[in-house]
Amino acid sequence: MTLRVKAIESLLVEKGYVDPAALDALVDTYENKVGPRNGAQVVARAWVDASYKERLLENAPKAIAEFGYLGLQGEHMVVLENTPKVHNLVVCTLCSCYPWPVLGLPPVWYKSSPYRSRAVIDPRGVLREFGLELPEDVEVRVWDSTAELRYLVLPERPAGTEGLSEKELAELVTRDSMIGVAKAGKP
Ligand code: FE
Repeated sequence: MTLRVKAIESLLVEKGYVDPAALDALVDTYENKVGPRNGAQVVARAWVDASYKERLLENAPKAIAEFGYLGLQGEHMVVLENTPKVHNLVVCTLCSCYPWPVLGLPPVWYKSSPYRSRAVIDPRGVLREFGLELPEDVEVRVWDSTAELRYLVLPERPAGTEGLSEKELAELVTRDSMIGVAKAGKP
C-alpha cells in the first residue's frame, strides 16, 4: 500500500497536478499540529463549564469552532456524552471516517477491518481487549461514522478531579477515551 501511494504521488507530482510542498504542509498539519490535544481541550471545557457542554451537545461544530478548530472532515460532528449508565463507542464500518479537527488522523487499528467489523458484532469483547470491562448494566451504544457525520465521545469526568484546573483536566483526556475504547485517565 505504501508503495502504491508513493507511486501515485510521484505521478501526480510529475504531471504537475499537485505541489509536493503543499502535500508536505498538509501532512505536517495533521501529523504535528492537529491532534487529539484539540479534542482534549474541548472535553475539559465541557467538564468545567455546563453552558459550554450544553452548546457542544446541541451543535458540536459550532461549539468546537469557539476554539478555532475547523476544517476538513469536521463539518458535521456530533458529540456523544458518556454517563454512568451509557457508554458510547465510535467506529467507521465502511472505511475510517473520523473527526480530524479534534482528533487528528485516525490510528491504524481504527482503520483495520477487525476493529471495523467486531466493534459492531461484539463491542464488549473489543472494549475488553482495550482493557475496559464495563458492568452488565451499562448500555453500550455503537455509532457508525460516515462521510456525512463524525462522532466524538465526551468521556465521563473522572472521580476525584474536583480540584483540578481545566488545563490539568485536559491532560487526563486521551485519544482513545474520545473514540470510546477507554475511559479518561485518573489523576
Ligand atoms: Fe469512513
